[in-house]
Amino acid sequence: MQHRSELVINLPRIVKNYTIFNDSLKSGQKLMAVIKANAYGHGDKEVAKALEKVGCADFCVATIEEAITLRKNKIKGTILVLGFTPASQAKKLIDFDIHQTVVSKEHLHELLNTGLKIKVHFKIDTGMHRIGFAPDINTENLIRQATEKLSVKGIFTHLCVADDPACNEFTRGQIEKFNAFAKRVEDLKLPYIHCCNSAGIMYHNDGFSTRLRLGISLYGLKPDYNSSLPKGVLPALEWKAQITMVKTIKKGESLGYGLTYTADKERKIATVSTGYADGYPRRLSNLGTVYVNGKKAKVVGRVCMDQMMIDVTDIDVKMGDYALLLCDQYTADDMANDIGTIGYEIVTQITQRVTRTFKGN
Ligand SMILES: *Cc1c(COP(=O)(O)O)cnc(C)c1O
Repeated sequence: MQHRSELVINLPRIVKNYTIFNDSLKSGQKLMAVIKANAYGHGDKEVAKALEKVGCADFCVATIEEAITLRKNKIKGTILVLGFTPASQAKKLIDFDIHQTVVSKEHLHELLNTGLKIKVHFKIDTGMHRIGFAPDINTENLIRQATEKLSVKGIFTHLCVADDPACNEFTRGQIEKFNAFAKRVEDLKLPYIHCCNSAGIMYHNDGFSTRLRLGISLYGLKPDYNSSLPKGVLPALEWKAQITMVKTIKKGESLGYGLTYTADKERKIATVSTGYADGYPRRLSNLGTVYVNGKKAKVVGRVCMDQMMIDVTDIDVKMGDYALLLCDQYTADDMANDIGTIGYEIVTQITQRVTRTFKGN
């Protein structure tokens, strides 16, 4: 079956990445797989199912809708919503057995007022100042009181510069604050004590926490372009788009919207059936790299909504061949680096119009 634009997701690679990180943990520690935003574009149900088969029992998402989708697809592990859920949705947290983050005092009061024994994790703010409670005596008291009405499962914090070696001192400070706070509530024997994201796992795992939240590097991508992933961790995406037409333009002729590209000599041009409405960044106009039949080709002219053009002057290519927009030679991290963003943004912006197919498992 040929698809106009297709994302081939290599599930065995995701499983392998999980296994490599899992093997790197200290005793008593387990990974929580972060599969928010459709598993960073990779397909949340499929990724979760593949990971459950190798023993992953804990998942994190961003919203209650994402959590419910997983439950409806028979994912059995715990599912933690990392962001805010209004108390009006509390019944669903119970019905679908979902763990919820408590983001603030106001949020806590709302959740307590429902009278429902919701499973919660308290977010502790150790310096990012996005959501969470200060690691102080007031928060300690609030957690102790909450244990009477809610089912308190854990506490966690989030590291915001763990990927930057220049900020190691700040990160160590965050971890120290979190660990010290966790020790104050040690007697509650909370099963979920978690602090590290991917960069934290790679550079700052002191073995103290019981869980670690693996996100971007589960998919073989780097928290920062300069990060180095553990050996064997590989990206799991191949993005293929069909070549719909091959033609020649003469020296001096221009192409595309705005006529932003002009041929310096006779050029062979291929039209590719993917554009910015598929999530291919328009900023890659006259900049992006794709691979065609094993060779590198450059994007020429502006990326259109549904199509784009590439220079295939030195490549043997015909209608129906594929252009690889993402592949091992040009990863989402490479693409991101070309336009000054991060791999996270590239993979989460690939739209539903792109057909997902799954390799393995
Ligand atoms: C997204 C997210 C993660 C995963 O971070 P990565 O950098 O992708 O590993 C972990 N914790 C929280 C709270 C998040 O929002």
